[in-house]
Amino acid sequence: MKAAMPITSKAVPANADAAAAQRAKNPTIPAVIVNSQSRISYNCGKFLGKGGFAFCYEVTSSDASDCRTLACKIVSKKLLVKDSQKEKMIQEIEIHRKLSHEHLVKFYDSFADQENMYILLELCSRRSLMELHRRRKLVTVPEAQYFMRQIVSGCQYLHSNKIIHRDLKLGNVFLNSKLWVKIGDFGLATQVNRDGEQKKTMCGTPNYLAPEVLNKQGHSFEVDVWSLGCILYTLVVGRPPFESPSLKETYVRIKNNNFKIPSSLNPVVAAFIRSMLQSQPQLRPSVFAMPHDPFFSLQPILPSLPESVLTVTPRLD
Ligand code: ADP
Repeated sequence: MKAAMPITSKAVPANADAAAAQRAKNPTIPAVIVNSQSRISYNCGKFLGKGGFAFCYEVTSSDASDCRTLACKIVSKKLLVKDSQKEKMIQEIEIHRKLSHEHLVKFYDSFADQENMYILLELCSRRSLMELHRRRKLVTVPEAQYFMRQIVSGCQYLHSNKIIHRDLKLGNVFLNSKLWVKIGDFGLATQVNRDGEQKKTMCGTPNYLAPEVLNKQGHSFEVDVWSLGCILYTLVVGRPPFESPSLKETYVRIKNNNFKIPSSLNPVVAAFIRSMLQSQPQLRPSVFAMPHDPFFSLQPILPSLPESVLTVTPRLD
C-alpha cells in the first residue's frame, strides 16, 4: 500500500489564498467538491485557467490514501442554456471518457451538483504549447520533432478509433510535469460512424479552420492534419500561417492557400508543412504516413526535453 500523505499538505495548498480569491470571484465554485454518487470529495486548490465555459482548478481527493492531484473542469449549469450547448458538453464527455492513450489527457470522472458540471482530468501542470509559444516565439527543429512525434501519436490513436478532434491548436496540446504531450479539449470532437462519411456541420469554430470547413463542402480526418500543419508552422515560424489584420482577410488567405514560408526555414521542415497545408484534403498525408516523413529523420528524436525549454531556447542542435 502507498504511504498516506499527510492530509494537511494537500488540503491546504501553498497558494490556498489565491485559490480562495479566484473562487470568491465565482461563488458557485465550492471549496470542497463532492461526487454524491461515489461519495468522494475533492479539495479545490490552485486556479489553472478559464476557457469558453469552464473554469479549471487543481483538486486533490480528501481521501488521504489517494494522493493524486487532478485537474477539474467546472462548468456552471447556468451557462449551458441552449440545448445545443448541453448536447455539446454531453458529446465531449461521451467521447473523452472512452479514450485512453499516453498522449491524450486522461479522463477520470464526471458528475454534477445543483450548480455545476465537473470533469476530472489528468493534471497537465506545465500548461500548453500556447504558453510555451508565447514565451519563446520560436522553437528549435529538435523540439518541434519532439512535440510533433507525440502529437501525431495521439492523433493516430484518435483516428484509429474513428474520432476527429477538429480543434487541434497550441492551447489544446497540454504538457504534463515531464513535458509529455497530452492532447485535450474534446469539445468539438466527433465520431465517424461509417467509412467515407463526410461531416457537414460543426457546432463551434475551430481555431485553425481548414479550407473544406470554410467552404462547407464536407470534412473528415484531414482537418486534423491541416491543424497539425498550422501547429508546426506556428512553432517554427513564430506566428500562424494565415494570420492577417482581419478575420475576413484570414479566410481569403485560407481559401487561396496563401501562406509564406521564410526562406531561412530548413527545407525538409518546409516541405513537411507544405504537405499538410494542401488545399485538397485527400493530398495531405494521413497521420499514419507522417512518421515516415524525412522531417522525423532530420536527427534522432529526443526522448525528453529539459524543463528550461518552457522559457529559454535550449542548445540542442
Ligand atoms: P473550455 O472547454 O471552456 O474551452 P478548456 O478545456 O479550454 O475549457 O479549459 C480551460 C483552461 O483550463 C485551459 O485553457 C487550461 O488553462 C486549463 N486546463 C484545462 N484542462 C487542463 C488540464 N488537464 N490540466 C491543466 N490545466 C487545464
